[in-house]
Amino acid sequence: MNLLVTGAAGFIGSTYVRGLLGPGGAAGGADVTHVTVLDKLTYAGSLSNLGPADPRLTFVHGDICDAGLVDTLMAGARQVVHFAAESHVDRSITGADPFVRTNVEGTHTLLQAALRHRVERFVHVSTDEVYGSVETGTSPEDAPLSPNSPYAASKAASDLLALAYHRTHGLDVRVTRCSNNYGPHQFPEKIIPLFITNLLDGADVPLYGDGLNIRDWLHVEDHCHGVELVRTRGRPGEIYNIGGGTALTNRELTGRLLAACGADWSRVRQVADRKGHDRRYAIRDDKARDELGYRPRHDFATGLARTVSWYRDNRPWWEPLKHSAGPAHP
Ligand code: NAD
Repeated sequence: MNLLVTGAAGFIGSTYVRGLLGPGGAAGGADVTHVTVLDKLTYAGSLSNLGPADPRLTFVHGDICDAGLVDTLMAGARQVVHFAAESHVDRSITGADPFVRTNVEGTHTLLQAALRHRVERFVHVSTDEVYGSVETGTSPEDAPLSPNSPYAASKAASDLLALAYHRTHGLDVRVTRCSNNYGPHQFPEKIIPLFITNLLDGADVPLYGDGLNIRDWLHVEDHCHGVELVRTRGRPGEIYNIGGGTALTNRELTGRLLAACGADWSRVRQVADRKGHDRRYAIRDDKARDELGYRPRHDFATGLARTVSWYRDNRPWWEPLKHSAGPAHP
């Protein structure tokens, strides 16, 4: 079976594909004999993320908004896992155009082609940010969507469009909404790799506002395992939250990163808060646990220590990226 994976030269998609093609494969992957990756290679994508060439892997350099190209690729695919997106909240605050284009129009282009070619299954990778800020308690899958940033709003639009293609046309769409991912190969603009690489470079780290915003941290391999469970064992038209089980304030996270890098609080620079900064995300993932047997396998302390080691050992991967993409963070 040929699986079309969009956005897999980025952080999460590449981890998913390496897992599918690697020894043992990710959960389920036995039905996948070939993977076709479609990626535009924006500042966030890098072919090296996919690892060495593999006869089971075809890489297509292109845009999910290119209807002709998408149509051709969809004709040869049985299933789709859709990761491609503009993914950084700070960039959506300074300019939202590419977010609307890729996340909304691009997803719609894929859905139209998937319907035309009657693909067997379409997994849409969404985010917990679509629920908006949650002061107390946790968001189940049927919680109202209340996105605040342009990034989250564009993801909510694509998430709802995907579900509409199931409800209206009967396309087998499955949506995942996960919490904040961390791990190797994450572009050094997101908080964990930004702070690690700044600290390794001897620079300060910028902490937003009072640092009390809370995020749940999910190891990227646990997320990919959850996506694969949804693809292979989930039900059509269903949404599955995928959490990591480690909720931390940004201050707590910063403390752990300083310790892991052998630095102290003198390296922390408090900066003006992000506009519209959501205070807390918290999802309930009982459905994925009960229905699919999903469990995060990575303990956060070990996962973070290994992530720091990976950045320490892979300077040639992140150094050029840090200086090429332009600032996304104060
Ligand atoms: P990323 O920014 O690392 O990678 C995105 C990839 O999409 C890049 O390779 C980029 O080149 C590609 N891309 C962008 N625009 C494209 C276009 N028009 N056509 C084709 N390819 C295009 O993102 P990520 O962190 O790996 O996130 C993957 C998915 O997971 C996204 O849909 C994101 O919204 C979602 N998600 C991420 C997180 C997180 O913590 N990183 C959390 C929740 C959900």
